[in-house]
Amino acid sequence: MLTAIVGTNWGDEGKGRMVDLLSAEYDVVIRYQGGNNAGHTVVNDRGTFVLNLLPSGVLRPETVNVLGPGVAIDLEHLSGELQKLSDAGIAVPPGHLLISDRATICLPYHKLLDCLEEDRLGDKRFGSTRRGISPVYADKYMKKTLRMGDLLHGNSLPGKAAALLEWKNLVIAGGYGHPAVSEAELLQWLERYGRPLIPYICDTTAYLERAVRDGRNLLFEAQLGALRDIDFGIYPYTSATTTLAAYAPIGAGIPFARLDQSIGIMKAYSSCVGEGPFPCELFGPAGDALREAGGEYGAATGRPRRVGGFDVVASRYGAAMQGCGSLALTKLDVLSYLDRIPVCEAYEIGGRRVEQFPAGIDELKAAKPIYTELPGFHEDISGCRTFGSLPEAAQAYIRYIEQAVGCPIRYVSVGADRDAIIRRF
Ligand code: GDP
Ligand code: MG
Repeated sequence: MLTAIVGTNWGDEGKGRMVDLLSAEYDVVIRYQGGNNAGHTVVNDRGTFVLNLLPSGVLRPETVNVLGPGVAIDLEHLSGELQKLSDAGIAVPPGHLLISDRATICLPYHKLLDCLEEDRLGDKRFGSTRRGISPVYADKYMKKTLRMGDLLHGNSLPGKAAALLEWKNLVIAGGYGHPAVSEAELLQWLERYGRPLIPYICDTTAYLERAVRDGRNLLFEAQLGALRDIDFGIYPYTSATTTLAAYAPIGAGIPFARLDQSIGIMKAYSSCVGEGPFPCELFGPAGDALREAGGEYGAATGRPRRVGGFDVVASRYGAAMQGCGSLALTKLDVLSYLDRIPVCEAYEIGGRRVEQFPAGIDELKAAKPIYTELPGFHEDISGCRTFGSLPEAAQAYIRYIEQAVGCPIRYVSVGADRDAIIRRF
């Protein structure tokens, strides 16, 4: 079984939580795109963890975790993440984690460039996580980055790094007028944070090819939601990567493999981190109450998230782009406090009612939400473990979303803990 766990919206739908739960049935969990700009929260019997780069299967000792060729790895950040787990008593030895020799290295100057550009943009900034992700992917496609496999060749590494730095300093010093990055500093960084990772680096494609041949179960963990996809999201307020399920086999390093299923993770309301169009946004007391109820503060950055009601237009589009065969609806318990649950059914753009998610940034920026309200359920549902035990209004809300989005809801999450889940089929 090859399954992708993907987000249908702006991100932070609860992907980490669902990967942690479902990984029990899988042998391998693979991250296939993005870098440490993700924040996947996992709450289980071992504690509460926020994972940025590591796959969310890392907390199960029997699961193999892979960082695929599509991922960009900040060596310093990864070593910090491994250290945090080790401090919590969780060992991640080589074999439990495999890092593709084809994965891209996110260097300190990528982070620096991310910051320099956001600062230059001022109030026109993208709201980047400032972790170097756009600069490193831009360099990847310019064929001017180091890959993890380069760390295995200590003799040629300094020359490669120096050549890249000479080119990069043209922009850093020449363009931005920032002091040039020193070669010694870069080489020191590569040595300090790269060397300890060497035992983890291997040809993960060869490993996974065998795993597929042996019929093992693979889980592909997306990092951000559909609307952050570079081609199909809210460009240019997207990530620099392909977040969609269709890319999972490629980014994971097994382009010949076919997914058996794509499970969309969909939140019972909307949230969005950073800048860019978010048509269903709720402001004032209604927004504040929802943010507080849902604890909507960035897992990676701590930034308050923008929030809104469930967005039918965006969610239907997201689920379609992800090719979802089923959905997990998360954080339904958060809506308990509402008398009436606001749902954005359509957008109004230039006096027209629009139900198809627009491709262009100008339409998206002009879109105003058309809200309707559904009955609230006024009850703590976090203890419910069957669909039938949910209040009538909660059942109706789930059926409404299913129908509006056109995809069956297979799981309903009613809490952050691993077992706070309702399985419908
Ligand atoms: P991800 O980036 O998609 O993995 O999601 P995040 O971890 O950034 O954000 C989801 C947040 O909601 C985390 O703090 C989770 O612990 C929490 N969470 C996940 N599912 C539920 C749920 O069903 N109910 C509640 N109350 N919290 C949840
Ligand atoms: Mg997150």
